Amino acid sequence: MTTQSQPDVPSWEYSPALDSTKVTIEQKNKLFIGGKFISPKSRSWFATVNPSTEKKLADIACAGKADVNAAVASAKAALPKWSRLRSTERAKYLYAIARRIQERAREFAILETMDGGKPIKESRDVDIPLAAQHFFYYAGWADKLEYAFPGANPSPVGVCAQIIPWNFPLLMAAWKIAPALACGNTSVLKPAETTSLTALRLAEIFQEVGLPPGVVNIVTGAGDTGRLLAEHKLVNKVAFTGSTQVGKLLMRETAGTGKKLTLELGGKSANIIFADAAIDQAVEGIVSGIYFNQGHVCCAGSRLFVEESILDEVVHKLKHRLSTLRVGDPLDKNTDLGAINSKSQLDIVNGYIAAGIKEGAQLHKTTKHRLPSKGYWCNPCFFTDVQPSHTIAREEIFGPVLSVMTFRTPEEAISRANNSPYGLAAGIWTDKGSKIFEIAKKLDAGIIWCNTYNKFDAASPFGGFKESGFGREGGMQGLRPYVQLGATLERAN
Ligand code: NAD
Ligand code: MG
Repeated sequence: MTTQSQPDVPSWEYSPALDSTKVTIEQKNKLFIGGKFISPKSRSWFATVNPSTEKKLADIACAGKADVNAAVASAKAALPKWSRLRSTERAKYLYAIARRIQERAREFAILETMDGGKPIKESRDVDIPLAAQHFFYYAGWADKLEYAFPGANPSPVGVCAQIIPWNFPLLMAAWKIAPALACGNTSVLKPAETTSLTALRLAEIFQEVGLPPGVVNIVTGAGDTGRLLAEHKLVNKVAFTGSTQVGKLLMRETAGTGKKLTLELGGKSANIIFADAAIDQAVEGIVSGIYFNQGHVCCAGSRLFVEESILDEVVHKLKHRLSTLRVGDPLDKNTDLGAINSKSQLDIVNGYIAAGIKEGAQLHKTTKHRLPSKGYWCNPCFFTDVQPSHTIAREEIFGPVLSVMTFRTPEEAISRANNSPYGLAAGIWTDKGSKIFEIAKKLDAGIIWCNTYNKFDAASPFGGFKESGFGREGGMQGLRPYVQLGATLERAN
């Protein structure tokens, strides 16, 4: 404990409160194609580990070309019947999936936390409930598409290749699959290589509710599997969430092919605190904005702009709040920050911290936590004396590292916030409603939170501008990438 240097930090510790639910994990996790779990034709497997212990959890099938071909063929074969099924019947499947996610929520939460490293309180209270909510929400739209697109005769796009990242594994699967199915499309989903387990368990739910074989197929593997899927000729639409680097590759690959594309990429989002804000509340917002899910959030409020007159107060309060955050076993209900998702991501984050120090910013971190000897850990931290030219002010870190900067006028706050190649999210903290509206209009960001941060809802569209991508997920707008308007399903291929 560092109670001597930080007298306001309580000197007590919680006793461990581990979740007692046990989940069983298959040792060999096969591909889900045509409604069945099947061994990969590639005969190749890779290990998934628990990032908080570095222990192997299971083997996952690595889908090769023949496997991807089989999955796409299965989605193509299922398309005519699924797209012509009465929309109220499609809705029933989506409702049933949502209900089964709720019923098996505990198991999903634990599995998500073991495979990905996020604290159980987040997988339990955020990821899994929101995944169920997305299926409920789009079940509601399935038979109302003509109201979403009045007079436009919406029809499905076809076979969707859906490639997702490791930061919200089940939730991203739900974001992708629910609107695609509601609109009558079929899907081949590729989870991220470090976090495949919950998507495969979702496939068990598809079997339980009797979803017709081939409507959703799941191919596991790394970037090569994703590339094979995205470039497949029978794919009509690619939906990708992940790094801007891969997003740019996919844009080049799909150009001129007639494939529809949506990209939800990275961010370097600005959280702007004015002097008239409720400061304690704002500090909570800063903390949830950057330390939620260890900063593995595309819309993380990773650039903090503080009105200069309140900098000292905000930094003081932030330091105190940081010292109370608990880093450790993700399965412990008291844990605030779990493990970094992978060794390679930890190396990326540590590289950025080193760059921040080298380029002259001042690092603030709590020394309170004794981190376990095994696992991938990063104490939450923040930098002050950050210049706009510093690497940590410009590039996405995707870890619990905040860059604090200042401004003097609203105009300066806006121009500094917009000075980024990204445009995903922003936060505004002020007592004045008029200021919120005025500033929100001028920020280049797809999502703007006011006096709160990192709040998600299936009915709210999510997506960015500039290098953060294009297309929206969630809300009525989330249907748009999955329909053709004024056309029929028949396509050249
Ligand atoms: P990534 O973009 O490489 O991976 C995302 C998904 O794309 C994974 O399923 C991956 O297997 C797949 N993929 C990789 N290469 C592909 C290719 N050529 N074609 C098709 N699919 C491919 O991201 P990463 O390497 O896991 O993380 C690197 C950085 O990306 C992070 O540090 C972070 O900055 C960013 N990131 C952003 C998000 C986000 O939600 N916006 C999510 C994850 C990572
Ligand atoms: Mg894992």
